[in-house]
Amino acid sequence: MSMCDYFSLAAPGVQQLKPYIPGKPIEELERELGIENIIKLASNENPLGPSPHGRQAAEAVLQDINLYPDGSGFQLKKALAEKHAVTSDQITLGNGSNDVLVLLAEGFLTPEFNAVYSQYCFAVYPIAVQATGARHKQVPAQGWGSASPLGHDLKAMRAAIDARTRLVFIANPNNPTGSYLNADSLHDFIASVPEQVIVVIDEAYLEYAPQDKRCDASQWLSEFPNLVVTRTFSKAYGLAGLRVGYALSNPDIANILNRIRQPFNVNSPALAAAQAAVGDVDFLQRSYETNQQGMAMLQETCHRLGLRYVPSTANFLLVDFGRDAMPVFDRLLHAGIITRPVANYGLPECLRITIGTPQHMQRLDHALTDILAG
Ligand SMILES: *Cc1c(COP(=O)(O)O)cnc(C)c1O
Repeated sequence: MSMCDYFSLAAPGVQQLKPYIPGKPIEELERELGIENIIKLASNENPLGPSPHGRQAAEAVLQDINLYPDGSGFQLKKALAEKHAVTSDQITLGNGSNDVLVLLAEGFLTPEFNAVYSQYCFAVYPIAVQATGARHKQVPAQGWGSASPLGHDLKAMRAAIDARTRLVFIANPNNPTGSYLNADSLHDFIASVPEQVIVVIDEAYLEYAPQDKRCDASQWLSEFPNLVVTRTFSKAYGLAGLRVGYALSNPDIANILNRIRQPFNVNSPALAAAQAAVGDVDFLQRSYETNQQGMAMLQETCHRLGLRYVPSTANFLLVDFGRDAMPVFDRLLHAGIITRPVANYGLPECLRITIGTPQHMQRLDHALTDILAG
């Protein structure tokens, strides 16, 4: 053992951050409990598998993985530029959208500045921000009894922005709550923010929102030079394992992010799969419909069992068990169902449950009914 305390040598911001806790992998539970037929409803993955077009394209590229990927991501950016009616120089590709969130923090924050985000925000924001040594201002969320339970309090977030604020992070819909903002209030918020403050709208789950509740902030890019919208192929496109996401912004901000990203941050199977998946509208539609069906089933289960939940336009539901949720989590594990504890988000009585197939939701319904009866 070394006598050196490496922890104390780490950058001060890094010492303070709380590591990300991922969902439990299926194989780990198999090893631990020796059971089979496990379903994972813990990481908001697509229960239908990957986009078939995306998968085929990734497989076709495997014979060329001796070559570096196209570091400019030319073809994928071209497809995305068309999809979003922007120019390629407005796009920054990332190793998952997590990568572009980190690039935003690295590109714009120093210890003199701060970033604003909400209580119950996505765990990656504090990690990305604190690693830079910047300060963070976490704004209390709305209460359970409000019109948007556990949702962002935009008025309070606006009030938290000061002369040293460089970044604001908002996931819409938000993870882990599933809460969402309507287009008018979000538009008004962005309009109220000074131009030197960059507003990042993380739309990882946008594809799951019904049309009448869907807020696509990318349509405001030409209106707000300080707006950055992030998207991912990890959720509705089913490509989480390949790691590819992107930011849309004005070209000046994209230029900063492209300066600091690794030259080959997106691998070649990921580039090919994402490009093919952009056009896989059938798969996207099936993902949406399956999610709507499963969401209705899980809400029905909650109503029947008297459990409250946060209304969600994402592919998961935050369910409140009204008591320590860990025993429920453990019993679900023994039933072969992995959900996500959210005590690390300050929600010890809740579990975040990903919407699976109707068969998954039926199994969950039976397991929860059993657990809560006994
Ligand atoms: C899942 C998720 C992402 C996507 O992460 P990737 O790195 O693209 O896999 C981004 N933001 C939020 C809020 C998420 O829940």
